[in-house]
Amino acid sequence: MTQAEIITIGTELLLGETLDTNTRYLAQQLRHLGVDLFRATSIGDNPLRIAEMIRESLSRAEIVITTGGLGPTIDDPTRNAAAIAFNVEMDFHADLWKEIYRKFQVRGAIPSDNNQKQAFLPANAVAIHNPVGTAPAFYIAEQKKLLVCLPGVPAEMKTIFQHEVIPLLRGHFELHQLIKTHVIRTSGIGESVVDAQIADLETSSNPTVGLSAHPGCVDIRITAKANSSQEADRMIDVVEQKVISLLQPHIYGFDQDTLLEKVIELAANRGVTVTLFVFCAINELILFSNHTNNNVFEVKKLDRPYTPQQDLNLERRALLFAVNIYCQDDIATLDMFFTSPQKHAEKKKLFNNALPQLQKWMENTCLDFIRRQLSEVENGE
Ligand code: ATP
Repeated sequence: MTQAEIITIGTELLLGETLDTNTRYLAQQLRHLGVDLFRATSIGDNPLRIAEMIRESLSRAEIVITTGGLGPTIDDPTRNAAAIAFNVEMDFHADLWKEIYRKFQVRGAIPSDNNQKQAFLPANAVAIHNPVGTAPAFYIAEQKKLLVCLPGVPAEMKTIFQHEVIPLLRGHFELHQLIKTHVIRTSGIGESVVDAQIADLETSSNPTVGLSAHPGCVDIRITAKANSSQEADRMIDVVEQKVISLLQPHIYGFDQDTLLEKVIELAANRGVTVTLFVFCAINELILFSNHTNNNVFEVKKLDRPYTPQQDLNLERRALLFAVNIYCQDDIATLDMFFTSPQKHAEKKKLFNNALPQLQKWMENTCLDFIRRQLSEVENGE
């Protein structure tokens, strides 16, 4: 399978000022094309270091894509770096200069001398038309390897990738295989428990099975490489059925599903609304502040802890959920209650209060409790 590396260029990426969304976009695109991405690196605006990185990446992968550093200023180093990496001079492209000049004219502006820099490309480079910005992108194809240098501005980079780079990659490499991913979402079960349950599946090389943990939730990601979408679906389906049979009570959804959506769906299917009464002894903790915009799930604050015996007025509701949150010695405690005419359930969960994602963890734990009660699934932990 064809292998690729990404190099995102820009000191602002390393200073933490710009979030590197280009890598994410390119990684997804390469996956759809069936290209294996083995490494993605961010590097500052230093031409020598970039040149070294380009050489290194080209020694390992057939395709190397860079973004950023194509602007007109002195600290836009990518053209130079590519020339150094291939040990070639820079050539002036009169046609590119004309195009840059024309783009400025259309905007009623006059390009500066600096803009002329953008019309210089490494001698072995081929310009890639940039319909949305002034900086020309370019590629260098040598010895069955391809270096593609794209602008840093995400909108420009994406347009050029879609219109110019995808056909370029297909023209240079036999990209028959595609990669498909399916995500199974679980809640209320720890990563190590999931890991132990599906350990055998995790050793498979195609499809691969991997875990990613979020506060109170664990995703299982099944990724298949195949020659067609149908074949990939079939391969994923076999593994997915095994995961479902092992982890069924803990699975709340697939792909883009969220735990809140699942709770809303379950409540809507049962024709009930869910009210969660929350008593919280941790002052700064605000639970579910983003979740109140729907007709099925609402959160109400209590000014004293909920007790099943005392709060009889609340019990008139068909389904009652309540949670008391306490904190002592860095341990936060969640006492969750469920009462319906047929059933009463209670569950206690403890957290390390220092956890950075405590709030999210608590929200997901409450939602998991509600989900399990609504789907009448016993907590298998
Ligand atoms: P320009 O012609 O606009 O100068 P360029 O190719 O030189 O384009 P950069 O100057 O490196 O690109 O980056 C321009 C802007 O694009 C940055 O300020 C940043 O906002 C955004 N950008 C650059 N790289 C990335 C990245 N990897 N992820 C997200 N945004 C990025």
